[in-house]
Amino acid sequence: MFAPTQDKMARVGENAHKRDAICIFGTGDFGRSLGMRLLKSGYPVVYGSRDPKNSTLLPSGAQVFNHTEALKTSKVIFLAVHRESYDFIPPLSDLLEGKVLVDVSNNLRMNQYSESNAQYLSQLVPKANVVKGFNTVSAWALQSGSLDASSQVFVCGDDNKSKQLVMEVARSIGLTPLDQGSLLAAEELENYPLQLFPMWRLPLTIAAGLTVFFFIYCVVIDVIYPYAKENNDVSYRLAISIPNRIFPNVSLILLSLVYLPGVIAAFIQLYRGTKYKRFPDWLDRWMLCRKQLGLVALAYAFLHVLYTFIIPTRYSVRWRWMHSMIEESKKNKTMQLNKMLSWRVDLYFALGMLGFGLYVLLGITSLPSVSNVVNWREFRFVQSKLGYITLLLCTAHAALFGWDRFLQSKWYRWGLPQAYMLGMVIPCIVLVLKLILITPCVDKMITRIRQGWERKSKIKVCSNKSSFI
Ligand code: NAP
Repeated sequence: MFAPTQDKMARVGENAHKRDAICIFGTGDFGRSLGMRLLKSGYPVVYGSRDPKNSTLLPSGAQVFNHTEALKTSKVIFLAVHRESYDFIPPLSDLLEGKVLVDVSNNLRMNQYSESNAQYLSQLVPKANVVKGFNTVSAWALQSGSLDASSQVFVCGDDNKSKQLVMEVARSIGLTPLDQGSLLAAEELENYPLQLFPMWRLPLTIAAGLTVFFFIYCVVIDVIYPYAKENNDVSYRLAISIPNRIFPNVSLILLSLVYLPGVIAAFIQLYRGTKYKRFPDWLDRWMLCRKQLGLVALAYAFLHVLYTFIIPTRYSVRWRWMHSMIEESKKNKTMQLNKMLSWRVDLYFALGMLGFGLYVLLGITSLPSVSNVVNWREFRFVQSKLGYITLLLCTAHAALFGWDRFLQSKWYRWGLPQAYMLGMVIPCIVLVLKLILITPCVDKMITRIRQGWERKSKIKVCSNKSSFI
């Protein structure tokens, strides 16, 4: 094995008056990037490698020894090696006594092993103080310095002093350490980088499901029906008309799904007469992804606005206008202005624009940079009060679009209602339930429950049956 010369060891000692040397086991991608960052922050860096001679890629200024010699130079050792290669660690157990061993490893799959890598390491070297951390930062981010999006470093460990030491190192290289508690938290930290948009999965699945459903539904009643009944081929509707039926309906349903769980939760609390009982898991999960549901709904609303803007430029629309004008002039008749229709169309657009404006406001206030500068009451005002107003405006916009079509049998093709009618079902349910909740007597009761009041009689009667509370 390559042994450090006295000269090299002396240089490590020279730098030590600035900052204590940090040792990194492993000269791979992560080890090199971390070393580069530490060197820039003034830490002397000493690598421990299986093959110290083959170290040309290492950042200049770093030193490289074999594992045994390298660990003697530092109290803190970063283990930038995959878990599968930890076999070389147990023989170093005595030398690692009292040292801080930082496990930065990740796995390929969630819960790949029965215990976390950090706990496994702690079992291999019980004399060392194992700290889990840095695994959520990528080698690329460390090297390029673009740490804005991933500057948080989650740290956990059983020994508080060792944890503080590692957090101090993180701070000095421009990261923000967050203490996550004991080494038991390591499993969660190791699963964290393996998650793929966990909060977006449910909203995107619902949006995709609704999109497919409305697409098939609209194709059946707006394309297949005219062809089957009148031999009228209107398949060109697939490009713009059909999507512009899907987007508003999906958007409206998703927006109502943002508010439905809150309404359900309020009714559950009213029924139970207490707030001190957990909601069912499905409701908890649903409530946690409301922001994402709202943002997906906003994206669909944007598409609806864009598609609506280009309607007057469409050839089929211009052709219909020209056709009706020619028909009128042929009959030598001028159509009277239908004031009722003018009102309806203007209101339809006005409500749509106002609703969309508030929609955008909701989206903006959900951004962390904005929500961080408003207090809780202001945030609730926008997200709850203005949110319900948005839902009301958008539902009214849809109702004005349909107007009295729901009364006319010709709009029920093959007995199926128009897509907008389906799109309004959940929003109307949410608005009616909300209306019940804001009636003074119900509102008073729910406010008392949320302030900690409990329906005593029920609790007394059911004191032995917790499930009734
Ligand atoms: P890597 O490029 O494959 O480097 C691993 C290093 O481990 C090798 O360069 C080697 O260094 C050492 N090694 C390999 N086999 C060994 C063995 N049998 N015994 C002792 N040492 C051995 O991997 P990496 O990307 O740097 O990742 C290292 C660790 O950091 C992993 O646990 C990974 O999960 C974690 N991590 C990586 C990233 C990232 O962005 N890459 C991000 C967060 C966490 P020597 O030849 O010098 O001994």
